[in-house]
Amino acid sequence: MDLDLSDEQRLIQETAREFVDREVVPRARDNDRAARFDLELVGRIGGMGYLGAPVAEEYGGRSLDYVSYGLIVEQIGRGDSSARTVVSVQTSLVCGSIERWGSEEQKQRWLPRLCSGDALGCFGLTEPDTGSDAAALRTRAERTDGGWRISGQKMFISLGNHAEVALVFAQTDPSEKHRGIACFLVPTDSAGFTSQEIHGKLGLRASDTASLALDGVEVPDDALLGSVGEGFKIAMTALDSGRYSVAAGCVGICDGCVEASVAYAKDRRQFGVPIASFQLVQEMIAEMVVKRDAARLLVRRAGILKDQGAPNTVETSIAKLYATEAAVDCANLAIQVHGGSGYVDDYPVERYLRDARVTTLYEGTSQIQKLIIGREATGIDAMTPLRAGS
Ligand SMILES: Cc1cc2nc3c(=O)[nH]c(=O)nc-3n(C[C@H](O)[C@H](O)[C@H](O)COP(=O)(O)OP(=O)(O)OC[C@H]3O[C@@H](n4cnc5c(N)ncnc54)[C@H](O)[C@@H]3O)c2cc1C
Repeated sequence: MDLDLSDEQRLIQETAREFVDREVVPRARDNDRAARFDLELVGRIGGMGYLGAPVAEEYGGRSLDYVSYGLIVEQIGRGDSSARTVVSVQTSLVCGSIERWGSEEQKQRWLPRLCSGDALGCFGLTEPDTGSDAAALRTRAERTDGGWRISGQKMFISLGNHAEVALVFAQTDPSEKHRGIACFLVPTDSAGFTSQEIHGKLGLRASDTASLALDGVEVPDDALLGSVGEGFKIAMTALDSGRYSVAAGCVGICDGCVEASVAYAKDRRQFGVPIASFQLVQEMIAEMVVKRDAARLLVRRAGILKDQGAPNTVETSIAKLYATEAAVDCANLAIQVHGGSGYVDDYPVERYLRDARVTTLYEGTSQIQKLIIGREATGIDAMTPLRAGS
């Protein structure tokens, strides 16, 4: 496996780094403090082509490879995980699903506006009673003359208050279990569709998170993405890309922790010397460097496999598990290096910790990633022990 970057990939990385330092980093603290979903910043990110980077150019994307997409997401994650969440949801979960499963008409209708940032999309899988066990979702879609009527609730949906289109996963026939799930492209101005902002998050305060209610929302037949019964597959395919994106963003958090900690440790003096001179401080920095590099290599491996079109679900889970846990560990260590200063938002490290924390939860918790990895290693599915044993 060739882990080297091409000249073009290096240029993409450098351009993203400069963009993030210029546009994302300077706004991150104020947006976090104000819990502001920064639409102007979303517009600038879209203007750079970062909202649909791997989408084909004919649909408004940049036709970039997955390694390049990961490099962009890593930089945005270094700057602000709230902004990174917009990129991950819009690109991996929404655009990626429409490009892969959509009809030509659906692609033409939605992708150019989503890729440019003119419109936002959201991914409605989680419900109040179903998170990890997504196949048990309760939102119902019932046939009508020429379409579908959808009723149910969705929970913790990123971008849900600002999206123009929601990918809504719904059960068409409960007796079919996961084979009855379908995915619909639901315009959020449809009658019966409402969203409500979720307040009080530990981190990702500048990210929009919503609960959605669908009360008899009527959509035509051509709102169906893929076919009836393919919904679960669509969700899992989307998460293969979404997890990669989250993992890449976490490499950015680790990198931000290293950068901030090295700078602080060389500047801050105690006992007459910079604290970087103390072996115990260097130990913390070394630990962060090792975790960052290991996370980066695992993400790179997953990206290369995606670009090769090779199976990568397990490698993506490994990258997601490692990089998200590494980001939490690095942010915690970075606060320690900063001492009391790390506990206030004059430095980015306390935000890194609050923002990193959700990454071990969403797009499949760390436990779910371990079950995917363990299933591959042992051949035994421990995800549903009761069902498997019954
Ligand atoms: C800020 C934020 C943004 C989000 N954005 C989106 C979004 O855009 N779209 C969307 O659809 N969802 C979104 N989510 C939801 C997220 O994906 C879920 O929270 C996540 O999948 C976990 O589901 P849950 O919260 O219901 O936890 P649960 O599934 O109830 O899990 C609770 C605990 O039980 C453990 N557990 C569950 N099952 C097993 C098992 N089989 N074996 C071992 N342990 C298990 C879990 O690992 C966890 O520790 C978001 C969540 C947050 C917080």
